[in-house]
Amino acid sequence: MDKSALLQHAVHASYFVAAVLFILGIKRMSSPVTARSGIQWAGVGMVVATIATFFHGSILNHPGVVTNVVLMVLAIGISTLFAWVSGKKVAMTDMPQMVALYNGMGGGSAAAIGASALIGAATAPEHHALGTTQIALAVIGALIGSISFTGSLIAFAKLQGWMDKTFRFGGQQVVNGLFFLSALGLGAALLFQLDTTIVVAFFAVSLLFGVLMTLPIGGADMPVVISLYNAFTGLAVAFEGYVQGNVALIIAGTVVGAAGTLLTRLMAKAMNRSISNVLFSNFGSGGGGSSEIAGSQKPIEAADAASLLYMAEKVIIVPGYGMAVAQAQHKIWELSQQLIKRDKEVKFAIHPVAGRMPGHMNVLLAEAGVPYDLIADMDDINPEFATCDVAIVIGANDVVNPVARTDKSSPIYGMPILDVINARQVIVIKRGKGAGFAGIENALFYADNCRMLYADGQEAANRLIAELKGIDSAGGH
Ligand code: NDP
Repeated sequence: MDKSALLQHAVHASYFVAAVLFILGIKRMSSPVTARSGIQWAGVGMVVATIATFFHGSILNHPGVVTNVVLMVLAIGISTLFAWVSGKKVAMTDMPQMVALYNGMGGGSAAAIGASALIGAATAPEHHALGTTQIALAVIGALIGSISFTGSLIAFAKLQGWMDKTFRFGGQQVVNGLFFLSALGLGAALLFQLDTTIVVAFFAVSLLFGVLMTLPIGGADMPVVISLYNAFTGLAVAFEGYVQGNVALIIAGTVVGAAGTLLTRLMAKAMNRSISNVLFSNFGSGGGGSSEIAGSQKPIEAADAASLLYMAEKVIIVPGYGMAVAQAQHKIWELSQQLIKRDKEVKFAIHPVAGRMPGHMNVLLAEAGVPYDLIADMDDINPEFATCDVAIVIGANDVVNPVARTDKSSPIYGMPILDVINARQVIVIKRGKGAGFAGIENALFYADNCRMLYADGQEAANRLIAELKGIDSAGGH
């Protein structure tokens, strides 16, 4: 077997190994117990695929020769440095922005592969000829990748607080529709005439469409949108993989596309919304929710809150974004252990969109060492609030807001919530009267059975622990 045939076999075998590692890695990510190793397996798969890619060019155009080594090493060097530094520095609360940014980079890379294939075929058809199917796939991949790229950048800017949550103007959906049709039209034109000017126009319109499509989406819808763009990126990569004849791209892209689609459906279901509703109905814009809430918020001191806990038999803890901000998960687990030690039944209730990314609360609680059997999903725990003596809400707001059930004008109307209000007594830990992500008032905080413990999450948990111990040393009540 000659050198180039051997290389070809080695590259294909490496891609196969990488694909198996991706699939097994994703499988392991489905349980918190094996998730860490799943990330490592997929990471090793990525290293294998990257190394094999050095030799991929030698199969395509230049048998036996490894091309563009300097450029590839430079790209890997710069991106490794960026990923390493940002990965080390990013706070857990900024993780969703990070995910949006990385996801956008994936979409952008897929679009760039499409651009290079199309421009190559337009300017030097003798070296880079593409069949009609390949052009069609390159165009579809580039369109989806471009939307994911600019859309994710806008999502990043919104989550980072750099951009107003929503941006709307009259007839926006018609303008967006026209941009989408223009992108499709230009893409279709490329099937008949592969011309550089059309390629450039196609990319300009597609990239702009990603921006326009994301601008009006805001507030409570961001999780679904980020997840949707994640699925887009996967699909775009898979399409461009077909164009390049690169098995690793096809498999990795398909896996990401399928996983992203499932996650998007789960997230949309968790918010009781259809995908089209998320994209086109301007829901969750941070406005609305105009109805006044009667009554007042009633504060409580840590000592009294600790007494309530001391007397309770069953306590359900509801964590939210504020727990992540306060990094209070360790202290909350310590508080729970104090309660368990005093024979209380303690459970944690997780809303699917609590925090700022899917699984945010599960990750934090796992980090603090909370056993998985104490953690319950929304559907399982909701009936239990009625039999619970005290519900502690720490840094959660939107996900426990009963207006989602009662106020049709509210931007979160229709989103399923945790039925905390059904508990005999509710203690809400938050710093002050700050609103949640959707920017609206919370009727729970004004309910008769609700008391507000105003403090930073970690500080409040600390005080509760100290007060509980104080009750013990005073001989209980
Ligand atoms: P929210 O964002 O609704 O509320 C968080 C609350 O935490 C605030 O009201 C704030 O009040 C309080 N808080 C902030 N810092 C602290 C602190 N240091 N100590 C104690 N409390 C603090 O959180 P939820 O988890 O209830 O809801 C998540 C929201 O985010 C939903 O609207 C969801 O749609 C959205 N979202 C979810 C994503 C996901 O994938 N999970 C992604 C993007 C958005 P105060 O300022 O008074 O302390």
